[in-house]
Amino acid sequence: MKEGKVFVISGPSGVGKGTLCRLLMDRYPNLAATTVSVTTRAPRPGEKDGVHYYFKSAEEFEEMEKKGMFLETVNKYTNRYGTLYSEVERIMKEGKNVILEIEMQGGVNVKKRIAGAVLIFILPPSLEALTGRIVSRGSETAEEISRRQSEVEKEFDQAKDYEYFVVNDVLEDAVEKVKSIIVAEGTKDNIGNIKQKYFGRN
Ligand code: ADP
Ligand code: 5GP
Repeated sequence: MKEGKVFVISGPSGVGKGTLCRLLMDRYPNLAATTVSVTTRAPRPGEKDGVHYYFKSAEEFEEMEKKGMFLETVNKYTNRYGTLYSEVERIMKEGKNVILEIEMQGGVNVKKRIAGAVLIFILPPSLEALTGRIVSRGSETAEEISRRQSEVEKEFDQAKDYEYFVVNDVLEDAVEKVKSIIVAEGTKDNIGNIKQKYFGRN
């Protein structure tokens, strides 16, 4: 079985990363799965521990960090987030591609550690549409929304190392584009590997 690859999906808060990933996995359950990150932020209404995040205290997070459990971590807003090695391994073992739905700093750090990782940046159709989506989600306070808005340009600047840019305008189209990237990346190889498989030598 060909090993799965790691795909990082990033983009400004409220652009629709979570929605897009959920639909992608609903449609193509054997293609890819998302990891569950650890965070110190409080759960939003409806968020479940172990499903959306592993919700931990700052002390617990630090303890896990000391034990070397994280592939990458980041401080974002006033909270900490981290990707667990164990989550990446869990999905790889299932023979699926791994999707990390994380912010750009984390994406760049993943790329440094996993050479073949693919960085995908999700764009809104416009900045106005982005604000509309955050407001309509209704999960942040006005203060939180304005803080996140003020970071949007900086977030674009952080995407310098990203290779793919997908506009999430019509959700279904964006899902198909991300699926195409994952499938196309899965066909990348080199003739040495191929010859090894077919002839037992390269
Ligand atoms: P993120 O994970 O990037 O922070 P979410 O997935 O929570 O964003 O989406 C933010 C809001 O935008 C949600 O209310 C979601 O239903 C909505 N949304 C996502 N994608 C689209 C789209 N293509 N068109 C319109 N609304 C969208
Ligand atoms: P939220 O609080 O809206 O769930 O997430 C805030 C930001 O943190 C989003 O951009 C999200 O993608 C990112 N994020 C979530 N988990 C991780 C993680 O494990 N590592 C990194 N680097 N970013 C994460």
